[in-house]
Amino acid sequence: MPQDFSQRILNWFDQHGRKHLPWQQNITPYSVWISEIMLQQTQVSTVIPYFERFMARFPSVQQLAAAEIDEVLHLWTGLGYYSRARNLHKAAQYVVSHYQGEFPKGQLALTELPGVGRSTAGAIEAIGNRGIATILDGNVKRVLARFHAIEGWPGQTQVEKQLWQVAEQHTPQQRCADYTQAMMDMGATLCTRSKPKCTECPLNNDCRALAENKIADLPGKKPRKTLPIKNSTMYIIADQQGHILLKKRPPQGIWGGLWVLPEFENPDQINQIGDLDGYNPLPGFRHTFSHFHLDIEVMSVTLKNKHPQIMDADDMLWYNYYQPAAIGLAAPVKQLLDRYHEETA
Ligand code: SF4
Repeated sequence: MPQDFSQRILNWFDQHGRKHLPWQQNITPYSVWISEIMLQQTQVSTVIPYFERFMARFPSVQQLAAAEIDEVLHLWTGLGYYSRARNLHKAAQYVVSHYQGEFPKGQLALTELPGVGRSTAGAIEAIGNRGIATILDGNVKRVLARFHAIEGWPGQTQVEKQLWQVAEQHTPQQRCADYTQAMMDMGATLCTRSKPKCTECPLNNDCRALAENKIADLPGKKPRKTLPIKNSTMYIIADQQGHILLKKRPPQGIWGGLWVLPEFENPDQINQIGDLDGYNPLPGFRHTFSHFHLDIEVMSVTLKNKHPQIMDADDMLWYNYYQPAAIGLAAPVKQLLDRYHEETA
């Protein structure tokens, strides 16, 4: 039965699997790793241009390791979950310092790299190193939870353990790379969250969720919790040339190492930056993190002049939107600057 399972998946892959994605060309452990990290929490169509830009700028792990973190974050701007980019940079340095720039072999060894969990390590090992390894990303969890009718939220240890067990049983000894890609494709294109295409699925004659009419209930949902709400006021402070003041966040914590719009406990502190010309509230919005909502109010401030000492601080920058510096911007800041420049253009 496990043999039959993987054979059906491989037959389907030969006919319908995706084979032309940019990370499926000139495959190396490095390119698989970059694509896998980018694809976490992000759709294929969004990732493609980011992957292409990233690989053009950092074609090797050595070049990534030698880069400034600001430039790595700059190429990540808009993808979100910036800890992924910081971990990529650290992991590249680790591969260079511990493995002379060659990716380690074996799923377990790969999990030593910052930001690489068991499933990502499985994908790098199977596709990049052409070894035998098992993956269990969100797409594969969905296929297996449905096929075997495994109840419960996959984030729970017991449920996850069961899923890893069946995932390992199904992993074939031959064509493991194709099988790995096929399972990801199955989850992304056939066994989708809503309205899966069961009639086209190679597993439909013995899928338990289909037979027992449980598709909508599997995999089990994460128990709901209400997110707390925090508030913040961001200031778009423009000098006479239209350059916007940005401040760099400390490396740890929310938006670590990214550039953001300044916030002030007391708005009078703006007078330390320059003499005010105008002051104008703009529409606010909500940005949601995994563990809280942030309700953001926005103030637009224009300056008649600016005080010179502000230019000396390393964590301050007057940002030219039309000739942007190679720095990472927090997603809502990028959104705000786009909107501001559209309105003031
Ligand atoms: S038959 Fe439907 S629910 Fe079952 S694995 Fe295939 S697509 Fe998913």
